[in-house]
This record gives sequence, structure tokens and C-alpha cells, in this order.
Amino acid sequence: MAKIATTTENAKQILDMNAFDISKAELIDNELLRRRLNNTGALSVLFYQKPIEMRSASGVWMTSIDGTRYLDLYNNVPSVGHNHPVVVEAITQQLSQLNTNTRYLNKTVDVYLERLKSTLPASLDKMILCCTGSEANDLALRMMEKCTGKRGVIVTQSAYHGNTRAVTDVSPSASKTGLVANHVRTVPAPAIENYDGDISAAFVRRISAAIDSLEQSEYGFAGFLADSIFSSDGVYPEPAGMLAAVMQLVHERGGLYIADEVQPGFTRTGDAFWGFQRHGFEPDIVTMGKPMGNGYPMAGVAANDMLVKEFSEDVGYFNTFGGNTVAAAAGNAVLDVIRNDQLQANSKKTGAYLSQQLKTLASKDTRIREVRGAGLYIGIELCANDNSPDPALATALIEGLREKKILIGAAGPYGHILKVRPPLCLKQAEANLFVDTLRELLAG
Ligand code: PMP
Repeated sequence: MAKIATTTENAKQILDMNAFDISKAELIDNELLRRRLNNTGALSVLFYQKPIEMRSASGVWMTSIDGTRYLDLYNNVPSVGHNHPVVVEAITQQLSQLNTNTRYLNKTVDVYLERLKSTLPASLDKMILCCTGSEANDLALRMMEKCTGKRGVIVTQSAYHGNTRAVTDVSPSASKTGLVANHVRTVPAPAIENYDGDISAAFVRRISAAIDSLEQSEYGFAGFLADSIFSSDGVYPEPAGMLAAVMQLVHERGGLYIADEVQPGFTRTGDAFWGFQRHGFEPDIVTMGKPMGNGYPMAGVAANDMLVKEFSEDVGYFNTFGGNTVAAAAGNAVLDVIRNDQLQANSKKTGAYLSQQLKTLASKDTRIREVRGAGLYIGIELCANDNSPDPALATALIEGLREKKILIGAAGPYGHILKVRPPLCLKQAEANLFVDTLRELLAG
């Protein structure tokens, strides 16, 4: 495969992907949009040049206020399906009975923790529940720092791990300046164009060099933090197994490995419950969030007893809403639906089918440089004639698909990779609808 032309000048910030841009708005004739901008100002995060006012949702479909139904290939939070009745019922029932924090005993919470732990390696036998992926990563970083006595962290070049101060430091994709904090080193995502020869070996070598750099700094090397499917970098699931070699290196050099499972966790990749399991290793710390409560705000950190004990020597940790009884009920219901609706199998089967259809489309259209993915997490990389990234085509397709009532997003350093990650109950007919519509749009 030809090398892609990469420049860092045009790098796009993650929140700018598919975002409403006021500088491009000629006339704002939407009263609610005006109110939103007035309420949120420069930190507004709306999607689309004509933002959509949503009214309801069910399964993989969202319905706007005017009754238009959109096929949702974007939202991975309602992972078992928007408003799944089992989850809605569990939340409603628990909310009408008791919603309190983890300072009281409650069986629902411990049943949930035990069920969740049963999906994880036995070594990760302690769970801390919180409310957002950012909080989970923030806590994981603190544990890592405490237990290694070092501060330096390695992440990928377009990683996003959340929004607290510490986590923003390790989220280059959130930076508008292109600069990262002094204690952070970035390595390119494991993409063919970023490494010569054997990707796994080259990726490990690059991380090793980053470790050297940190060890020579005042910060030292504390650990490696990565999303196991490299979502914001542009979706890089292969080669499966590659991250086991990274883990080995990280340990040899005295660091800890934090697997950020906010995106690939909860059977998204079809191959396993967790993204790191595709790579055949056991991380030191696992962080999770988004799909955990199917929209009820839930997140968590899994670690071993020793890490938790050491962290707790200096400071306690309590999260008012984390692991509350309603969250636990939602979490249990999500686990029930994943099992009863066989969503891991569906993710694998429908994901493989969709990937195959997209690869067929790519074989006939040179503007699709590559289709890659695992289960229902698929990246469609778009390029121009000279094989350079084509974010303009990505934007045109996102807006075009929206006109055709399909919701999708972008990823990658330039926003040139379409990101497909629907609720896990997507059916083959819905996958076909997407592929046919994309084909139609590409045909102009
Ligand atoms: N990690 C990853 C890989 C994410 O994609 C995100 C959110 N996009 C986060 C962490 C942060 O999660 P939250 O927005 O719930 O804080």
C-alpha cells in the first residue's frame, strides 16, 4: 500500500469532527439553535451544519422532532439499542424504589460488580465505579503515578481519553495547539503508513524510544495508556496480538499498562467482551464507560488489589453518583441484554458482513483507501487522487448521509476516516441500507 501523505498542519481536533461551525453559518433561522449558542457560547459541541433536534429513539433508529427517522451508525453509548425496554424497565423500577450511593450496602450493586468482574481477567479483582470515562482515566492515571512513583505517560498521536485537566494532558486530539504536556510522549497509531515493515515490531520500537525519552526526563516512565481499538486515531484493530508485545515492553521497563476500553469494551469488537482480549493480554488497569449503562452515566476502573491498596494509602476515593443503585440496575440490565440478545455474536456477524460489503465498494472506488474494523467498529478511510487524506470528502459524505437520513461520524488525525459504530443490534438489512446509500452518494 502506498504511503499516505501526512502533515500535522491540517490536524483536526476531535470535537471539530462533523461539528456545527458558526463561521460557516450564513443565517441562523433556527430558534433553538440560536438559544443553544446563546447558552453555551464557544464551547458549543453541536453536530452538523444544520443541527438536528431529536425527539425519540428506539433500537438503531432516532427520530427528529419533525418525525424523520434516522438510521444511527454513530452512537455507541446506547450500545444495546436506544431505549432498550429491559434497561428502561430496570432503571425505572430501581429509581422508584431506591437511588442511593455506595456508602450503604445494596445487593444490586455487588451482584453487578461480581458480574462485571467475571468478564475481566481474574487478576483485576477490584472495581471502582464512577460516572464518566474521563473520571475513570483520571483515577487510573493517579493510581499509575502513585504505584510507579513516576509521571511520564505514552499515548497515541490522536488519542482522546477525556476532559479532566490530567486526562486532557494525555488527549492530543483535544488540543487545538498541537502541543502536548511535558510529561507526555506520543507515538503514531499502529497504521501501515506510520511504520515500516512489521507493524507490531515497529510500534514496540517506537514506544521503546518514547520510554527512553521519558526516562531521560525529570518525569520518568509511568506507563502506556491506549484505547484498544485506537478509535480517535482512526480505528486500527490489527494486527490482533500486537498490544501483548507492548504490554511486555511496558512491564520490562517498569511501567503500567492502562487499557482504555471506553470504546471497544462491552462486546463492540465482536471477538471478545473487551478490546484488549483480542490482543491476548491482561492490562494492569482497565477503564470503561460509554456503553456501560446504555446511556445512564456509568464508568469504572478495574485494577488489582495491590494497586488499589497502594493508591488508598495517601487518599480516599468516593464518587457520589458512581455505582449508585440505579446505575447498578442499569448495568445489570445491559449485561442481561448483551447475553440474551446475543449481541457479541451479532456484532461479529453483522460487523463482518458490513465490512465485507464496504470492502467490495472500496474495491471499485479508489477514493476509499481502506476499510478496517472489528465487529461493529469500522473505519472507512478516504483519500484524494494523490492518496492524501481527504477530510473534505468525509465531511461531504457525512452531510450527504444525513440528508439521506443516516447518522455517521469521522475520526483520524484529519477527520478523513468515517467511523461506523452503531448500536450492537444492527441488522443486515440496515447495514445494506447504509452501503447502498454510501454507494449512491459516491456515484454523485
Ligand atoms: N476514552 C475514550 C477512548 C473515549 O472515546 C472517551 C469519550 N469519547 C473517553 C475516554 C471519555 O469519556 P467521557 O466522555 O465519558 O468522559
